[in-house]
Amino acid sequence: MADAPPAPRTFGDLDRLNQEIEVRCQRCFERRRLTGSSRDKHDRLLRDQPIAGRRYVCACGGIGLPTIRRRWVEALSHHGRGLEARSRR
Ligand SMILES: [Zn+2]
Repeated sequence: MADAPPAPRTFGDLDRLNQEIEVRCQRCFERRRLTGSSRDKHDRLLRDQPIAGRRYVCACGGIGLPTIRRRWVEALSHHGRGLEARSRR
């Protein structure tokens, strides 16, 4: 219990805790990642904003559903696709 992952409170916390939010539109299935990173122009504006109570609306007018997850999971699934295991000779 003591080592439960800390819950992010603001978008800046996501960056510090190496987490991210993936928002998925229920209507058009568009996806967007929010990392709270200061390197991203849009995410930088969110850094001090609380995550709780926020609504996500897609450009199509649909409602976005947020999922919080660890960032490395996404990185692996994205960049690992072209990798294959080969034996060394
Ligand atoms: Zn949409």
